[in-house]
This record gives sequence, structure tokens and C-alpha cells, in this order.
Amino acid sequence: MLVDSHCHLNFPDLASRMDDVRANMAANAVSHALLIGVNRPDYPAVRALAEQYDNFYATVGVHPDVQDSPDFSEDELVAEAQHPKVVGIGETGLDYYWCKGDLEWQRERFRRHIRAARRSGLPLVIHTRESAQDTLAVMREAGAEQAGGVMHCFTESWEVAEGALELGFYISFSGIVTFKNATALKEVARRVPLERLLVETDSPYLAPMPHRGKTNEPAYVRHVAAHVAELRGMTLEDLAAASTDNFFTLFAKASRGH
Ligand SMILES: [Zn+2]
Ligand SMILES: [Zn+2]
Repeated sequence: MLVDSHCHLNFPDLASRMDDVRANMAANAVSHALLIGVNRPDYPAVRALAEQYDNFYATVGVHPDVQDSPDFSEDELVAEAQHPKVVGIGETGLDYYWCKGDLEWQRERFRRHIRAARRSGLPLVIHTRESAQDTLAVMREAGAEQAGGVMHCFTESWEVAEGALELGFYISFSGIVTFKNATALKEVARRVPLERLLVETDSPYLAPMPHRGKTNEPAYVRHVAAHVAELRGMTLEDLAAASTDNFFTLFAKASRGH
């Protein structure tokens, strides 16, 4: 059994073929998926999918790349966190690749998400790109370790992983770890403690080998898990069991029974 800990199934490429997407999950023993909110206008569609399907869960938040779009207040995030299928806050974090200039607005939004996670008792789903030092600094300053969470689609150095692990965070690997040139990242995937490791697709982006360049979907988390297992000299079954346990430990509000 495998869980896709991060995907965007409300995007048209996937939403329009949901029956196939779900059949492919079942055929690959991918039992659950966590659907990630990225902005306020699309959030109702994310939550609706989690309401419609027992084995889908949702998170609520606004992605750091999203500018000039309605945001959630801290109180609104905390209120949404009460929904029975909402199990995390995010994705949130910092992204200095897509956004330039004075990015204090990003850091302020990130701090607001951390405060909401602490108040609601739900874990954080954190995105970081070309901003690792500031991401860790805001996490420390805002007390993110009191909420816990996951560094999703991890592509940073071992030093950054260590910083996040010290704050009690999990590290999630996506299809990027399967790419041939991801040498340093493969080393991180060998070193992360097994009890802190998650796998994800970030569908519809970042399809793993051998589907690189195509539309990604949750079933392909199997390729990510198989590759990480091979890097660590474990069986896919053991890696799947551990990462699934980790998912339900971190996102404790999600229930394995569904
Ligand atoms: Zn992300
Ligand atoms: Zn994402």
C-alpha cells in the first residue's frame, strides 16, 4: 500500500479523467492521496474532491507563488481546518525562483500559515525553492516545530534536510529523485531516517522516470517509491509500508480505514 502525499487533482488534465486516475491508483496499490490547496479560488474544488472520495484528503493554503489573488486570513485557515477531510495547512513556504523583488509579503503569508497550523493542530505542507535558508529561518522564528509537517518535493542539500529534521519535519521525495542527474538528491534520499520519509508525485507536474515529460498522476508514486527503495537497498514493500505509516502518523486526522 502506498500514499501519494502531495498532488493537485483538481487541475483540468486530471479532473477530467478522474475515473482513470482512480483506477490506475487502485491497480498500483496507491490507496490514498492528499490533494493540496494552492489558492483561494480553486480551494472549493480541492475540498469537493476530498468530500466526494473517501480515500482523498485535502489541505488548505495559498502557495507562495500566488500573487494578486484573494488570500485566506489566519482565522479563515483555522476555521477551514475544522473540516473533517482537511488534514493539513498548505501548501505554504517561500519561492524565490518564480517571484522576485521584495518578498516580505511571502514571508508574512508563510508566518500566517504557521500560526494557523499551530492554532489548529494540523501539520504544515511546506514548499521551498531557492529560498532554503529563509524558509528554515521563518520556520524557527515562527515556531513551526510546534505544528510539525513536511518539506514537500524536496530538492535541497543534506544540510537543509538536517535543519528540517531537527525541527521534527518529514522529508518528501517526488519524481525528481528518479532523474539521472539528481545525484546529490539521491544521496539525501539515502540518508533521511526511514521514519521521516514520505513520497509524493506533485501531479500533474514532475512525472518520474519512465514517464518523465508526461502528465503525472498519483499511480506513479510507485515509481518514486521503487527508486527510493533501490537507493536505500530495501524492498519496495518495506519502503511502501514505512512511508504509509509515516503519512498516517504525520497527518493523524486522515484515517487509514477509508
Ligand atoms: Zn510545491
Ligand atoms: Zn504542489
